[in-house]
Amino acid sequence: MTNQNLEKRAVDLFAVALSRSLGDSRVIVDSDILAQFSRDKSHCEGVMPDVAVRVKSEDELTSVLKMANEYNVPVVARGAGTGKAGGAIPLRGGLVLDMTRLDQLLEVDRENLLAVVRPGIVTGNLQSMVENEGLFYPPDPNSLDTCTIGGNVAHNAGGPRAFKYGVTREYVMGLRSVLMGGDVVVSGKRTVKGVTGYDVTALMVGSEGTLGVFSQITLRLTRKPPVLSTLLIPMPDEESAGIAVSRIVAAGIVPRVLEFMDTTIVDVLRTKGVTGIDDGTGALILAEMDGDSEELVERATLQLADVCETLGAGEILMARHGGDREKLWAARRVMSDAVAETARHKVSEDIVVPRSLAPQLLTGLKKISKRFGVKVASYGHAGDGNYHVNVLWDDEGFNVTPVVAEVFRLTLALGGTITGEHGVGIAKKPYLPWEQGTSLIALQRSIKQVFDPKGLLNPDKIF
Ligand SMILES: Cc1cc2nc3c(=O)[nH]c(=O)nc-3n(C[C@H](O)[C@H](O)[C@H](O)COP(=O)(O)OP(=O)(O)OC[C@H]3O[C@@H](n4cnc5c(N)ncnc54)[C@H](O)[C@@H]3O)c2cc1C
Repeated sequence: MTNQNLEKRAVDLFAVALSRSLGDSRVIVDSDILAQFSRDKSHCEGVMPDVAVRVKSEDELTSVLKMANEYNVPVVARGAGTGKAGGAIPLRGGLVLDMTRLDQLLEVDRENLLAVVRPGIVTGNLQSMVENEGLFYPPDPNSLDTCTIGGNVAHNAGGPRAFKYGVTREYVMGLRSVLMGGDVVVSGKRTVKGVTGYDVTALMVGSEGTLGVFSQITLRLTRKPPVLSTLLIPMPDEESAGIAVSRIVAAGIVPRVLEFMDTTIVDVLRTKGVTGIDDGTGALILAEMDGDSEELVERATLQLADVCETLGAGEILMARHGGDREKLWAARRVMSDAVAETARHKVSEDIVVPRSLAPQLLTGLKKISKRFGVKVASYGHAGDGNYHVNVLWDDEGFNVTPVVAEVFRLTLALGGTITGEHGVGIAKKPYLPWEQGTSLIALQRSIKQVFDPKGLLNPDKIF
């Protein structure tokens, strides 16, 4: 028998054992449903799993991972499948664990400012639930209406509010993780401080579903800031926008959001009639301030506007409340789809450079665009130096790989990193050695070996 036949036979026997253990109705082999689990929101090609289970409890997860380990079946945990690096694609087939039904909010502890959740809870739902109680979970990936907290922890997701509040890592206090073989590892704490042993929780955050499957997550909360103000700032060009971002930071102003949109994006948004763009607009800044006092927020808002005005900003739009604020966010919300509509193909990267080197990055991207004859549109979390670089083209036969490689070369030459929040997955696997040395990669491989000696959990990802 060939290796492939042996693997197929192992999966068939596993599926039978799974049906015996959970009941036939719980084991998904319907090809239409399996096809939904074959890909994510990356440009990576999908791969069909052989079987899937919608996990309903930690006990069930434990027994399924024990069985899969015995039968040598590869396993991929899946949240909402919004990942942009191919992390949830079952590259070797096998079992997909759909975690979206394990989605309960188990506890909100107001005195200790924490929440305990199951991994399948949708990030936006968790935020609304805690905000109803005057509390706040700040990480806000733009996919928050669909993505899950489990996926966010696996990718250490960021979002526009990361500039002030940090990324998911800063909010994960503790985890229950189930390893291949079914062992449950409880890590972290419910206290503000605590340094007992290695920080295994920190290791699991950002491990892209390769070390263990989260079954429970303890998250730090803060008080919801009552005062908000949003600004949409039209800048004459990208350079002045870049300088404005640096000056805002240098002035000690700490907006919770500081987003940037380049000239190409402004041109696309202009055709959509988006509010706040006039003929002289060459770049946009979307900023948001929050705090406890009207006076302090007002003062910081005016200070930020002042910095931009001295650099030639056009008419700055400001809003304080729900609907009006949403109008200013429209540019940011419609942008991704609007840009994608302008070409038949799009690849989106999420690189980070030191904040102060944004002007050099944008100049370098222009050169790349010219050299390869493709459109490059960039937007992103400018406060963090994190840019989503979109390469757009129409020609079916065009090979985009050299363009992407050039974007990564430029990023690394500026002292940056090839992924700020989307993870390595499959998409960035070939470029990992460009950023990390052989000993660091070897060390990470050894860690993977300790957690998953047979290499069955989300295999062939990252390395
Ligand atoms: C329109 C759009 C906007 C986006 N904006 C942002 C953004 O602003 N910031 C950002 O960081 N990302 C963003 N993303 C990317 C994506 O939403 C995030 O990476 C998100 O964290 C993925 O969550 P998910 O539930 O969809 O996970 P999936 O895509 O299903 O899985 C992602 C990874 O997590 C692992 N995983 C899932 N659940 C578990 C679990 N319970 N235990 C262990 N591993 C698990 C999977 O194996 C996989 O490796 C965006 C994506 C889209 C489509």
